Amino acid sequence: MTGAASAPWFTRVRRWGQTNLTELDPTWYPNDRWREQWRTTGIDAVIVNAGGIVAYYPTAIDDHARARYLGDRDLFGEVVADARAAGLAVVARMDSSRVGADAAVRRPEWLARDASGAPYRAGDLTVACVNSPYYTEHLPAVLAEVIAAYRPDGFADNSWAGLDRRRVCHCEHCRTGFHDATGLALPTVIDQSDAGYRSWYRWNVARRNRIWSENARIVRELGGADCLWLGMLPGSVTAQVDRFIDARALLSDARLALLDHQFRGRRGFEDNAETGRRLTELMPAGSVLAESMAMYRSGTPVFRLAAMPAGETTLWMAAGAAGGIDPWWHHIGAVHGDRRQYDRAGSLFTWHRRNEAYLRDRTPVSRVALVWSDLNAAVYGGEDAASRTSTPADGFRSALLAARIPVTPMHIDDLAAQGHRFTTVVLPHLAVLTAAQRDAVASFVAAGGNLIASGRLGALDENGDPAPDGPLCEILGTRLLGQATGETGPHTGGFEDARRHTYLERTTDWPASAAPIWSDLAGTDLIGFGGHLDHVAVRPGAHVLATAVPAFGVYPPETSWRPPVSEPALPAIVVTEGEDGRGRTVHLAADLDRCAGRNDLADHHHLLAGLVRWTLDGPEPVLLEGPGRIDLHPYRQTDRWVIHLLDAGRSEATPGTVEDLWSMGPYRLGVHDPDGSLTHAHGLVSGNALPTQRDGQRLWVSIPALTGHEVIVVTPGDQESAGTGRPGCVDGSPGGK
Ligand SMILES: [Zn+2]
Repeated sequence: MTGAASAPWFTRVRRWGQTNLTELDPTWYPNDRWREQWRTTGIDAVIVNAGGIVAYYPTAIDDHARARYLGDRDLFGEVVADARAAGLAVVARMDSSRVGADAAVRRPEWLARDASGAPYRAGDLTVACVNSPYYTEHLPAVLAEVIAAYRPDGFADNSWAGLDRRRVCHCEHCRTGFHDATGLALPTVIDQSDAGYRSWYRWNVARRNRIWSENARIVRELGGADCLWLGMLPGSVTAQVDRFIDARALLSDARLALLDHQFRGRRGFEDNAETGRRLTELMPAGSVLAESMAMYRSGTPVFRLAAMPAGETTLWMAAGAAGGIDPWWHHIGAVHGDRRQYDRAGSLFTWHRRNEAYLRDRTPVSRVALVWSDLNAAVYGGEDAASRTSTPADGFRSALLAARIPVTPMHIDDLAAQGHRFTTVVLPHLAVLTAAQRDAVASFVAAGGNLIASGRLGALDENGDPAPDGPLCEILGTRLLGQATGETGPHTGGFEDARRHTYLERTTDWPASAAPIWSDLAGTDLIGFGGHLDHVAVRPGAHVLATAVPAFGVYPPETSWRPPVSEPALPAIVVTEGEDGRGRTVHLAADLDRCAGRNDLADHHHLLAGLVRWTLDGPEPVLLEGPGRIDLHPYRQTDRWVIHLLDAGRSEATPGTVEDLWSMGPYRLGVHDPDGSLTHAHGLVSGNALPTQRDGQRLWVSIPALTGHEVIVVTPGDQESAGTGRPGCVDGSPGGK
């Protein structure tokens, strides 16, 4: 590692490596082989197993079991020494969630227990309770022992957050602790509509926040101001909600955060970029986000010892870089029959090292914020958060990606302070809003901001009860009537099930400005729907752009004709606009966003993107012409632009899997540059200077092709040959958001 020695270690680290030791590894860990892997991949830091469930050093702490085959070897100490000799930072990995059979017998007070008093088990191990002396006495002792003997730069704890929200611990510590804090008995149901459960949930979130801050304090006091304790963070909002993790609170003052998001969902590679963008938005300027990335087959099914295809590791890491995430190779075990996994990180890591100056300290450029809320996911989403809250957000994300409209994920509690950065905010099915959140939404619109919302905006308070002031739909030009038709879940009916066979029909009540909304749907007045519709009344002055066509037969074909409408058609999409064209609002009473997230139908994408575009006036900062489904992430960095292009195609049957990278193109990238200062461009992946051509206020860059991903740097003057790509490490100069 090079760079300014005075800067904290984590600002000098750009690439990470982790050989996640199994209990067998002390018998055969090949030190030379892994030192060589560190060298060839050019990492700056290693993460190596220290203790927790089992110790990889000769611990003297009672009931801190040694790894089964450790014997008297100090494997952790050897790896630390090897890493120090190689000039690498060292993070000690812990896993503090579980205890083995012997400790479970001797320390019954450590164990999380169900309502019958039986310990919660996880395979051969038992789960430790986060309120037990295991967390308050045992783990601090392990941290102190590791710091005293090895002086690591920090700690990463794998499963620090304990039991999830679906399992209540009934141990004595929890029973008395919860009663002392709330006066309540432990909940007997897992249900956000139960006041006792909600209190228990909040009490658990507060406990995780305290574990985070307390462990950080302990290692700082024992290991120095820059010694960090870091819990591994799950990436998705629902996973965070499930684990009582308040990411916004935990990351508000983070200098470094470690992400564990290897188990990719159905959203494909772009999911990693979105996760990085969402989390870095919560972090202070100049902070660092790194992510453990599997070199083995992750997902469903998982194979710990089998290599991930090269294309997948490359695209996942490239997507992370597009979202502001530093890469970190991760192998399970130290010796492998499938040696292909050792080659997987190399080319991307080499590329990352060469171009690291372009990949940090930059400001994202987007005019649209897609708002998320963990409270809404917990209380409104409940046990169906996938359909109720995740899928609608996925739908907007997917539509905007297809339309190449860059979007920034924003936490609802940041709207008041950060909303001014955006022309338009999108609120997908935010039924639950606190009073402060309602005020922020109303203030944003009152100030002339554009708002797109779906479903029952603000109909519920933070407890899931009807909001005292009613839904917020008034500012969308609608009023909820309390009735609904259709369904929110997946389509499960057969061919003869006509209940989901519904449509949306374009009306003629369109304001003149709105005509372009339908431009990608020219040739039809009707599109398939199949979703859920809240019945709304429309206030004078608002416009109904589309109405719902009730269900009719699918099969046999003789029945598949649209019956005459005998009642006033139900409004599906309602818009308003201020007199000067500012303050446009869209209410999706029909859950088009959820349909788009569930089914990826092009018509739904076109309509959602058209509605968003209607709210965006003025020139688009970045335009991209050319084939395919490209995830676009533009940034400003000093006087230049850094623009990530990621192949988010879904050519494979399972999103997030790919064997080979395909070359696609050509593309034209147009950057809005009213000053006329930009002149040159080059590709960080191709390594080539790229032709540019000015057309008025836009500089167009010609890109012959991209293979998997490309990063285009657009500059005033020829910065490529001027050598601005800084070698080595950067000193963590603060960057804007
Ligand atoms: Zn407990």
